[in-house]
Amino acid sequence: VTSFAGKTVALFGLGGSGLATALALKEGGARVIACDDNPAKMAEADAKGIETADLRNIDWSKVSSFILSPGVPLTHPEPHWSARLANEAGVEIIGDIELFCRERAKIAPNAPFVAITGTNGKSTTTALIAHILREAGRDVQMGGNIGTAILSLEPPSGSRIHVVECSSFQIDLAPSLAPTIGVHLNLSPDHIDRHGTMELYAAIKERLVAKAGLAVIGVDDPMSRAIAERCEASGVNVARVSVEPLHVKGIFADGETLVGVTGADAAAVADVAGIGSLRGAHNAQNAAAAVAIALALNVSPDEIRSGLHTFPGLPHRMEEVGRIGSALFINDSKATNADSTEKALKSFDDILWILGGKAKEGGIEPLKPYFPKIRKAYLIGASAEEFARTLGDEVPHAQCGTLDKAVEQAASDAQTLGAPAVVLLSPACASYDQFPNYEVRGNHFRDLVRALPGIEAKGA
Ligand code: ADP
Repeated sequence: VTSFAGKTVALFGLGGSGLATALALKEGGARVIACDDNPAKMAEADAKGIETADLRNIDWSKVSSFILSPGVPLTHPEPHWSARLANEAGVEIIGDIELFCRERAKIAPNAPFVAITGTNGKSTTTALIAHILREAGRDVQMGGNIGTAILSLEPPSGSRIHVVECSSFQIDLAPSLAPTIGVHLNLSPDHIDRHGTMELYAAIKERLVAKAGLAVIGVDDPMSRAIAERCEASGVNVARVSVEPLHVKGIFADGETLVGVTGADAAAVADVAGIGSLRGAHNAQNAAAAVAIALALNVSPDEIRSGLHTFPGLPHRMEEVGRIGSALFINDSKATNADSTEKALKSFDDILWILGGKAKEGGIEPLKPYFPKIRKAYLIGASAEEFARTLGDEVPHAQCGTLDKAVEQAASDAQTLGAPAVVLLSPACASYDQFPNYEVRGNHFRDLVRALPGIEAKGA
């Protein structure tokens, strides 16, 4: 990043993206003074040749910009002390996406840049569109809030397409964000603890599409629909995405068929029937958004269809792990709340459901409408007693304690059943009573399943 050559930049937060940002700035000739609450992170940066200091002791009058890592509170409930210092000194506060945008404006303003946000489905949609574009032979760089930090990607150039997942925190710190294609999928009350109110949260998401060359907007919730209307009213080119029929420009999912609407014409573009990695209405929304992006980037319908069909899906999100006879094993460890688990319960029948962990408020009460689809539940973790009460007499359940025990019992029951069944790990809980995070939990599930006798593993 050369836009800050010769300038002094302060940075707080030396996680993966913070460190990548510090290195990119330093390489581009900036003087970077970095800081983190965690001494180990400071030492790591030191070892990489980054100057570190307590930002309380530096001369802020020499600082031209302050880079804040996503996830460090900027406003709510209290700004982080480092953000307060920058504010008092009148120094702009920006994030890594902003650095990318400024660099792109300088070196390759016409290089295609797709930025994706929304409460849910960001990673799936980002990975899906990147996959479709790569399969169509395009030069793609994917990262941001998924995988590689944006400043560790190859720089924008020519027809290279940057596909970048953006969290609200990142958008909040990127005032010049104006992507070629901005994608906003949906809004639901999440992260409100960090942004104060739903209105503030929505306003941040809106910024990503308001200055886009093309705004692809999911209109299945009222606040996102309002965003689409406001964008259109201010002259932005909008393509809507929905799982309900559309009569204006966009892509909608008619069951498993994705239909493109241009003016008065509607025509089927692709189908997601039978694509295991894109099961469920929520994935139809993600797929419809990806199709809208792909069409805008002149990918042919044939290439789009082929990209959809070969999409492997992301791990831990209704990931197919394997089969034993007619029993299918699904890893949905990313489902850490009832909302997410609902998506999985909607997508399958005859479920042998492994659930539990550190429960969220409300537990699994909201999932009661799906209880008739559950053949049996296998309870693990700290929530076991509470969930057993909610399941009551309606759903047969076993207290398994550990995931190991649950997989063993569910697999054996599936065998005995001899009829089609889905062994589904969709915990509706955080993992940290038994695992460091949902990935470790999901990986452990996958390992256990792959070790079962008779397993035909997928993607092994
Ligand atoms: P994000 O990156 O926004 O967290 P992911 O693509 O990782 O989203 O999906 C996380 C979970 O969110 C999925 O396991 C699923 O339960 C749910 N989800 C995915 N896509 C959508 C969508 N379009 N609408 C609502 N929920 C979704």
